[in-house]
Amino acid sequence: MEKLTNFINGKFVSPRSNQYLDVYEPATGQVYAQLADSNSDDINNAVESAQNAFENWSGLSVKERAVYLNKISDGLKARLDEFSEFESRDTGKPISLAKSVDIPRAISNFQFFADYGSSFQFESNLNNETAQNKIIRSPLGVVGCISPWNLPLYLFTWKIAPALIAGNTVVAKPSEITPLTACRLGEICQNVGLPNGVLNIVHGQGNISGDALVSHEKIKAISFTGGTTTGKVIAEKTASSFKKLSLEMGGKNPAIIFADCDYKKMLNTLVRSSFSNQGQICLCSSRILVEKSIYDKFKRDFVQRVSELKVGDPLNEGTQFGALTSQGHFDKVLDFIEIAKQEGGNVLTGGNSKKNNGRCETGWFVEPTIIEGLKNSCRTNQEEIFGPVVTLQYFESEKKAIQLANETEYGLSATIWTENKEKATRVSSQVDVGVIWVNCWLVRDLRTPFGGMKQSGLGREGGEDALRFFTEPKNICTIR
Ligand code: NAD
Repeated sequence: MEKLTNFINGKFVSPRSNQYLDVYEPATGQVYAQLADSNSDDINNAVESAQNAFENWSGLSVKERAVYLNKISDGLKARLDEFSEFESRDTGKPISLAKSVDIPRAISNFQFFADYGSSFQFESNLNNETAQNKIIRSPLGVVGCISPWNLPLYLFTWKIAPALIAGNTVVAKPSEITPLTACRLGEICQNVGLPNGVLNIVHGQGNISGDALVSHEKIKAISFTGGTTTGKVIAEKTASSFKKLSLEMGGKNPAIIFADCDYKKMLNTLVRSSFSNQGQICLCSSRILVEKSIYDKFKRDFVQRVSELKVGDPLNEGTQFGALTSQGHFDKVLDFIEIAKQEGGNVLTGGNSKKNNGRCETGWFVEPTIIEGLKNSCRTNQEEIFGPVVTLQYFESEKKAIQLANETEYGLSATIWTENKEKATRVSSQVDVGVIWVNCWLVRDLRTPFGGMKQSGLGREGGEDALRFFTEPKNICTIR
């Protein structure tokens, strides 16, 4: 069975402990690879190699660093089909999604930051009558990037690309549940001749290798995406060392549907925004709030459309809905459906694990599930399920819609559906989330700030925000 090892100082190396973890294929529930179960020794090695590489890497111009990022992007592009299959096999997501979203987005993350780095002001001047102020933004040194399992390469590269273009060297830890594409990214770095130690990829369990990375005194910043509980642990661990922190965490995103929306467009998008990647996208709509006058029609049409989704083997091109990514997550989602029933929820469609024949007989499949009849305050509507389970609620006034949308500890994203532009502006300004989509979903301009409010996030990623995070400003004041 293949062993997935660490990528340190430009080489693939076994973990010091020589211990490995099982990696499962969600569609079959079977082990298909072994993963380095790294510890603080491996993290120490990786940090040392990143430190050794820092002087030369940060000494290159942005243009010179951009050449490497573009080469990595091209290397991924050349292996799009292969990487899409890796991602689909590793996560259980439909291969069509990996090919149209995950891998293309990883390609554009490198390309985007290669270009954007050239337009970012790493140096600027603010002069007045008495003094000249030169402001320099310098790289931080060695930084840590920690990513989750739902969009493995997409989110991994979203952190690594800005860190590198800004002149930092990186120790990155992908999720132990979905390590395959991160591991293969190391091959691309080797092939394009990225200098040794500039990017180091260390695998393993969050509370061991992740913790060692977060706790390492030479790590200047941690860019983390994952659950809010883990984010809190990282914030507490790093508080006394004043590391820079960027935390992208959980969500419980409302979709607010007004009766005056473009109904067809809304319905098509809602199916996607609720159930893409089996609902395992932090930006998925999970609480669907519908104006009462169209509630019954929407319920009927939505249930019909969702029950028609093609659930099955993620590696089949025609599959629209695959497996949940781990056994633990599969169990958690089924438990939540039971909780919803106990709370008085009425399951309109789905509600069970999904049985398949053949290769996927023992895989972790859950039917796309829609539930109504629950209060907004119940656990089902307050806790992040992060799976193929959405709830429907209705509202009779704009004020009530905003109140329901905001009644949660999370504040990541929302979608608003109305053809009335003034209403859209009014509601957008009052919903407390970091990202709002009006009459669309997941439309991304990588220059825009991305992240959440409240328990969903600290700081923002994307364009200027990412490059500010990965640099430290210094003001040099010279008297005239
Ligand atoms: P997780 O918090 O369990 O793990 C995320 C990463 O952190 C993994 O690499 C894990 O190994 C590591 N980790 C775990 N414990 C650690 C510790 N003590 N110290 C350091 N690292 C540690 O999250 P997950 O289950 O992989 O991902 C699902 C969560 O991610 C959901 O809550 C989802 O909403 C969130 N998410 C948020 C965004 C966003 O942009 N806001 C995007 C995707 C996913």
